[in-house]
Amino acid sequence: MRVSEILQQRRGPLVSCEFFPPKTDRGEEKLWQCLKDLESIQPDFVSVTYGAGGTTQDRTKRIVKRIHEETGLIPVAHLTCVGATAEDIRALLAEYQHAGIENILALRGDPPEGMDRFEATAGGFAHATDLIRFIRSINHFSIGCATYPEGHPESPGGVKDDIRYLKLKQDEGAEYAITQYFFDNADYFRFIEAAQRSGITIPIIPGIMPITNYDQIERFSRMCGAHIPAWLHERMNPIRNDLEQVFATGIELASRQCEELIERGAPGLHFYTLNKSEATTAIVHTLGLCRTRQPA
Ligand SMILES: Cc1cc2nc3c(=O)[nH]c(=O)nc-3n(C[C@H](O)[C@H](O)[C@H](O)COP(=O)(O)OP(=O)(O)OC[C@H]3O[C@@H](n4cnc5c(N)ncnc54)[C@H](O)[C@@H]3O)c2cc1C
Repeated sequence: MRVSEILQQRRGPLVSCEFFPPKTDRGEEKLWQCLKDLESIQPDFVSVTYGAGGTTQDRTKRIVKRIHEETGLIPVAHLTCVGATAEDIRALLAEYQHAGIENILALRGDPPEGMDRFEATAGGFAHATDLIRFIRSINHFSIGCATYPEGHPESPGGVKDDIRYLKLKQDEGAEYAITQYFFDNADYFRFIEAAQRSGITIPIIPGIMPITNYDQIERFSRMCGAHIPAWLHERMNPIRNDLEQVFATGIELASRQCEELIERGAPGLHFYTLNKSEATTAIVHTLGLCRTRQPA
C-alpha cells in the first residue's frame, strides 16, 4: 500500500518507525527481532535509511525487500543522491518496482564519511527536489521527503529556505514530509503555520527521537543541528550515567511531546527507533495509539 493512501484513509494519527541497515550479521539479527517486536504496535509503515557512501546501500535494498516479502509491514525505502548517477537510480528503482515496493523517501543525503560537504555526482542530482522530479517521472512510487522545523544546517536563510524548498518538493511530487527530530514542539507548530502560509498542503509528520542515551543524543544533535533546550538538558544532565533513569525520563518526555503534537493536529508520529523497539512500543502504548489506529 502507498503511504499517500494510508494518509488519506487514516482515521487516527499515523505511526511509523525508522531503522538503519546494520553493518554486521549480529546487528541484522537484532533488527529482525526489533521489527518482530514492533509488529505488536502495527506501525502504518516502517522506513529503512540509505547509508552514505555506498557501504550499506545493498543492505537497505535487501532489508526493504525482505520486510515486504516476509512481514506484514509496509516498507519505505530511503534513497539518496549520494554517489549515484541518474541511471544508477533508475536501475535501483526498477528493482524496487519489480519487487513490489511502492514507497520511497527521497533525500539528497549526507556527505559520505571523510567529506565535509555534499558534492553532486556527475550525471546525478544535486538536491532532493531533482531526485523527487526524477522518481515522479517513473510514475510508480509514493514519494516522501525530509524537512527541518529548526532549519537545515546548510540553509543560509534558515527555516525560510526550508519552507521554500519544501514547497518545491511538494510541487515536484512529494506527497508527505517527515521532519528532523526536535524537542521543542513550538518549533514544529511555528513551522507548520509558516508552511501553510506558503501553500504547503502535504502532511508534515513530526520525527520523534525518544532519548534512551543522553550522550548519544547530544552527539547526534550536534551533527544534525537539532537544538537541545535548556529544560531538557537540566532534566537529563544530572542522570546521564544512570541509563535506567534516562530511559524512564526519555519515555515520559517523549510521551508528553507526542501527546501535545497529536492533540494539536499532527498527522502522525515518525519514530527514530535506532533499531530498538522498547522506547517506541512504550510510548505508543502510553498514548493508546494501538487501539485508535484502525484500517478504514
Ligand atoms: C526523515 C529523514 C530521513 C533521512 N534519511 C536519511 C538517509 O536515509 N540517508 C542519509 O544519508 N541521510 C538521511 N537524512 C539526512 C539528510 O540526507 C540530510 O539532512 C541532508 O543533508 C539533506 O537531505 P535533504 O533531502 O533534506 O536535502 P535537500 O532538500 O536537497 O536540502 C539540502 C540543502 O540544500 C538546500 N536546498 C534544497 N533544495 C534546493 C534547491 N532546489 N536549490 C538550492 N538549494 C536547495 C536546503 O535548504 C538544504 O540546506 C534524513 C533526514 C530526515 C529528516
